Amino acid sequence: MTTRAIPYAEGATAAPSTTEPRAEAHRATLRGVVWLIVYLFFILAPLFALLLGSLPPARSFWTEFSVAIGYAGLAMMGLQFGLTARFRHVTEPWGEDVIYHFHRQISLVAVALVVAHPIILFVTRPELLVLLNSFTAPWRARFAALSTYSLIALVVMALWRAKLKIRYETWHLTHIVLAVVAVTAGILHMVGWSFYLGDPWKRGLWIALTVSWIGLLAYVRIVKPLVVLRRPYRVSEVRKERGNTWTLVMQPDGHDGFRFRPGQFGWLTVWGSPFKITAHPFSFSSSAAASDGRVEMSIRELGDFTDEIGKVPVGRRVYIDGPYGAFTLGHPADMHVLIAGGVGITPMMSMIRTLADQGDERPVLLLYGSKDWDAITFREELEVLKTRLDLTVVHVLERPPADWKGESGFITVEVLERHMPAPFADHEYFICGPDIMMDAIEGALGKLNVPISKYHSERYSFV
Ligand SMILES: Cc1cc2nc3c(=O)[nH]c(=O)nc-3n(C[C@H](O)[C@H](O)[C@H](O)COP(=O)(O)OP(=O)(O)OC[C@H]3O[C@@H](n4cnc5c(N)ncnc54)[C@H](O)[C@@H]3O)c2cc1C
Repeated sequence: MTTRAIPYAEGATAAPSTTEPRAEAHRATLRGVVWLIVYLFFILAPLFALLLGSLPPARSFWTEFSVAIGYAGLAMMGLQFGLTARFRHVTEPWGEDVIYHFHRQISLVAVALVVAHPIILFVTRPELLVLLNSFTAPWRARFAALSTYSLIALVVMALWRAKLKIRYETWHLTHIVLAVVAVTAGILHMVGWSFYLGDPWKRGLWIALTVSWIGLLAYVRIVKPLVVLRRPYRVSEVRKERGNTWTLVMQPDGHDGFRFRPGQFGWLTVWGSPFKITAHPFSFSSSAAASDGRVEMSIRELGDFTDEIGKVPVGRRVYIDGPYGAFTLGHPADMHVLIAGGVGITPMMSMIRTLADQGDERPVLLLYGSKDWDAITFREELEVLKTRLDLTVVHVLERPPADWKGESGFITVEVLERHMPAPFADHEYFICGPDIMMDAIEGALGKLNVPISKYHSERYSFV
């Protein structure tokens, strides 16, 4: 997500003061830089710590180099548990999708480093090739093999899950198991070899690091679900919407609920407890101004889990972990331009409903791409909202009816230019829809000289 988290100016009616959001944007940037330094510190510090204290006799450059990248790769793998721990302070400066994207990309770097470690050794010291025979090799070499094979399996499954036709839930569980095996076996290999870990404090440091990595996993899988379990929700209504979509209306059960900012999302568990491995992310579609803690999610039937949403009985207890995300209002802007494709309308609905509830006077332009006229989710409500807000809705239909006079095809730079008043760089843009649409719109905004800080994207594909 190309966005910065800024607290939503609750209660704002007209254009809010620009100094407060700007100051908040700077604070968010600063937080981002600080977290980046913390991340690098946790990768490099354990590596440099190995050079303190008593040192083993020096070996060839390539041996030392391969060991160094092995250590760095392992530290990066361990920190992956932190990236996916959903710490709000960590994710807010960038947004969850950017963090997951980083998690994915950096894991390729980490695995490349870990795999390069034995390859360099085998090429420069062929006598070590015997260690590949796991029947005769010592335990420390077997752990290295186990760690490397687990990492390779993890990457193959992550990159080609869809092609391999692995169910998301099966993949998710396997992913966690492989990650724990890879990191634990890697650390056992290091401790077993003990070349740089001669000093007990160095061994202690790396073991403590590993325990903290696994602790992060325990936090996500045990502590967080416990908190969510104590704050359940009840489904009070299941509403059919246009476009194979259902809205779940959920009330906090025995607590006050949480406040979210329009555009944010939560992780929903419907069948089972929050300890279930896979929860599903959905944007809140209701107004953030609701005072009774009620939240709504509007969910399109797209797969195993979402196909069953219409069957959720009223009264069912569900769990929401949230709110998350930095795709949200609160930036200085003369007007809001919301660009939605398909189910990407859900966070925009929350923004429009909230702005209407708060009597915001700034214009809102919604460019909304749908398959056809009947599939336009929230079509009727958007008409009603026009009476409460300075809202203009431009429908762009992929398959328009014969007598359609509006926009058809896809949202292009020409469509944007036809409907947006200049100067384009003064507006705040929110984009959510299929990846292909988002890439096109981001390109189009670039052509219109809209600075990157002025648009915010929410991608619905974390994996
Ligand atoms: C931040 C965010 C907000 C979203 N908001 C909405 C919304 O408001 N309304 C809506 O209809 N959809 C939304 N989605 C998409 C929604 O989460 C997926 O469509 C849904 O989880 C698919 O589940 P499934 O089992 O039905 O489909 P499947 O067929 O199993 O999965 C379809 C695809 O969805 C993705 N997916 C599945 N499960 C998950 C998961 N647990 N976490 C991440 N990705 C997953 C995978 O890429 C998968 O290939 C959002 C996604 C994200 C990341």
